[in-house]
Amino acid sequence: MTPRLTFHGAARAVTGSCFRLEAGAGQLLIDCGMFQGSKTEKELNYRAFPFRPDGIAAAILTHAHIDHSGLLPKLVKDGFAGPIHATAATADLASVMLPDSAHIQAIEVEQLNRRKARWSAAPVEPIYTGADADACLGLFRRESYGSWFDVLPGVRARFWNAGHLLGSASVEIEIAGAGAGPERPLRLLFSGDIGPDFKLLHPDPEAPRDLDYVVCEATYGDTDRPEATDASRRALLGEEVRAAIHPNGALLIPSFAVERAQELIVDLTRLMAEGELPQIPIHVDSPLASRATRIFARHARELEEGAGLLAGLRSRQVHFTETVEQSKALDRQQGFHIVIAASGMCEAGRIRHRLKNWIWRDEATVLFVGYQAEGTLGRILQDGASTVRIQGEDFPVRARIRSIDLYSGHADGPELAEWIRERLPIAREVFLVHGEPPAMDGLAARLAGVLDPDRVLTPVLDEGFELAPAGARSLPPAGAPRLPSERVARLDWHNDVSRLILDINDALADAADERARDVLIRRLRRALDDGGAEPRKRGS
Ligand SMILES: [Zn+2]
Ligand SMILES: [Zn+2]
Repeated sequence: MTPRLTFHGAARAVTGSCFRLEAGAGQLLIDCGMFQGSKTEKELNYRAFPFRPDGIAAAILTHAHIDHSGLLPKLVKDGFAGPIHATAATADLASVMLPDSAHIQAIEVEQLNRRKARWSAAPVEPIYTGADADACLGLFRRESYGSWFDVLPGVRARFWNAGHLLGSASVEIEIAGAGAGPERPLRLLFSGDIGPDFKLLHPDPEAPRDLDYVVCEATYGDTDRPEATDASRRALLGEEVRAAIHPNGALLIPSFAVERAQELIVDLTRLMAEGELPQIPIHVDSPLASRATRIFARHARELEEGAGLLAGLRSRQVHFTETVEQSKALDRQQGFHIVIAASGMCEAGRIRHRLKNWIWRDEATVLFVGYQAEGTLGRILQDGASTVRIQGEDFPVRARIRSIDLYSGHADGPELAEWIRERLPIAREVFLVHGEPPAMDGLAARLAGVLDPDRVLTPVLDEGFELAPAGARSLPPAGAPRLPSERVARLDWHNDVSRLILDINDALADAADERARDVLIRRLRRALDDGGAEPRKRGS
């Protein structure tokens, strides 16, 4: 049978990475990630997989980020029982990240069900529980970088350093006898997520050349990041921290708990040690960051700057808040301090509590140090919203909102194009994934002189291809689309309604007097009634 590859996530969007490869007698998944964009996309996490989990013989995990690993426990819950191949550091990080993902769901579902109970609505179930996550962790197989391992009969794979996250890898796969010509294997490469050059903690990405097919991420395909060295990155961070200093204020850094928090500890403690910053208490307010930091310390010898991380962890200014009480006490902290809290896009975790305490105060600064996906609270703040809703409460935004883009774990457009160029010759197609459409177009344009444009493909969700030696052929859809492509990676109506309500509240608050408010409410009411709907009665 000609091998087939189907894109079940990260198709013209950045989350939910999941690629299904059918080769010979079996099927395997490369990543099985959670959708993290708009509510419409996130609902996909609750739906059945568009394939039979018990029909998958093995999985390969490129790295521990939840948008690549987060649905593996659901896969196991739904019947998958094969091995999950990953590097040792990825397996270690997954051992804290997957239970954490289950924990976040438990909290969210509990809150949601409390609301639903009030309206006698049916309760919802979490996507999976901590027990499912534990069962999944029992299936991990630790593989070394650079060593071939067997995945299915006739299919072998090996990991290459992707320089994106502790343990991150690109994965090279060979399918025996499926290449052009007798005896030749079909050679595939999945980039995973690729780190930038000069990334703190990791060497530059590596991968083989001379392939048949390449699947490459495109997160920042349309972006030219200014060239940054370790020194220039740290200098800019130092400037931002100095500008944020206020005797009664705080600097909140929403941060991924894994890798970004550790990079910030390295840079902030070094700036203090070098006298570029005064001594400032740094509170790492994330139980996951605390646990992940211990794993980084364990793998310090594999890291570039591992010694810098260990030195930072010994600093007297670095504090990890473990309990909820310690975390709450941060809101009473006197004097300027820095809080590093997850999640990085403000979608969950303790950062939301810290934002509720600080976002409406002009002595605070919120500094974004990573990518903010469309539809997240982080992106809404970054886009300059004047009010935001956090956990059902509305807050005016008075804190300074700042962004620096030097801590990205992702290669930018020129680096991605260079990564693909270094893979040449590529006999057949390059599939671009893990990017919003403008990013994919941007990367495709950069490849114009490198590859024939017809050979750069951007699959849609659940699109499958036959990987013939002569070239990829798109297959007709197997069923109704799970999500029409125009609704992937877009703000959906939930976002629109939230924004509309906030705008109405703003307008009412800004109205000159009670009369002006009455007029505005009457006009809105009329607009609703003119919208074709029957005049609404309150409470109906
Ligand atoms: Zn990643
Ligand atoms: Zn990713």
